[in-house]
Amino acid sequence: MNIVVCLKQVPDTNEVKIDPKTGTLIREGVPSIINPDDKNALEESLVMRDKVGGKVTVISMGPPQAESALRESLAMGADEAILISDRAFAGADTCATAYALSGALKKLDYDVIFAGRQAIDGDTAQVGPEIAEFLSIPQITYVEKIDVNGNILTVKKAWEDGYETVKVNTPVLLTAIKELNEPRYMGMKNIFETFKKEVKVWNADDLEVDKERLGLKGSPTKVKRSATKEARGAGEVINKPVKEAVTYAISKLKEKHVI
Ligand SMILES: Cc1cc2nc3c(=O)[nH]c(=O)nc-3n(C[C@H](O)[C@H](O)[C@H](O)COP(=O)(O)OP(=O)(O)OC[C@H]3O[C@@H](n4cnc5c(N)ncnc54)[C@H](O)[C@@H]3O)c2cc1C
Repeated sequence: MNIVVCLKQVPDTNEVKIDPKTGTLIREGVPSIINPDDKNALEESLVMRDKVGGKVTVISMGPPQAESALRESLAMGADEAILISDRAFAGADTCATAYALSGALKKLDYDVIFAGRQAIDGDTAQVGPEIAEFLSIPQITYVEKIDVNGNILTVKKAWEDGYETVKVNTPVLLTAIKELNEPRYMGMKNIFETFKKEVKVWNADDLEVDKERLGLKGSPTKVKRSATKEARGAGEVINKPVKEAVTYAISKLKEKHVI
């Protein structure tokens, strides 16, 4: 079974701090990590490969430094890594990102494409489903458990208030959630072998794409304005007996047209 994992390098949001003066994010010196859901996708792909055989390829679209995320995945046990990187991709929204990735995926032999549910920086959860649409293959999102039987997968999918079990033929695109598994650490032996492995780099010319649909030019999303949330004002503590406090709180809420 050939599995391709779509993997995004993201800033570690646990390390992001707010500048107290400007109220904006301090990005300098923030370490980059593999997007957490993508690690779950990779872990499950490695388990499936080890059970039924095949190959796990990781692919990422990003700047040259995204290579380190791909090397980390090789050290976790992935077989091959591809970085798609080109100035032509700059400014891509989710649609142009998914279009570029699907242009790369068309060149690969896959049974399963695995993405994370959501990236912790962009947070849209759109790229996986959009790739499936571009490739005209079925998709199952929010995957929590998978059983493989030949080219048929039995997949447990999480809903907000329950589960659904779906049987699907490959090729299929799945999106992983954290409940799927506990990702492994990099293996010592793999870490050494990773240095010898090649991370292939593809540019826009290497993809099966219409270049007009890449990057900012190919992005239907136009950001009109962005702003930082205003800091909340200090609250008011009501030091009155309960009944009086309730009456006072209601009058304040009415004054502000909340009720
Ligand atoms: C107008 C506009 C311009 C933008 N310009 C830039 C820019 O210049 N540079 C920039 O870095 N971002 C840019 N972005 C953000 C970029 O579009 C998103 O980060 C990207 O499309 C992924 O969306 P997301 O983070 O919401 O991922 P989600 O849809 O939440 O991700 C879901 C899953 O898709 C897969 N995935 C997502 N992105 C990638 C990727 N790059 N490679 C491999 N797999 C992936 C992963 O498996 C991930 O878990 C721009 C956004 C807009 C709206």
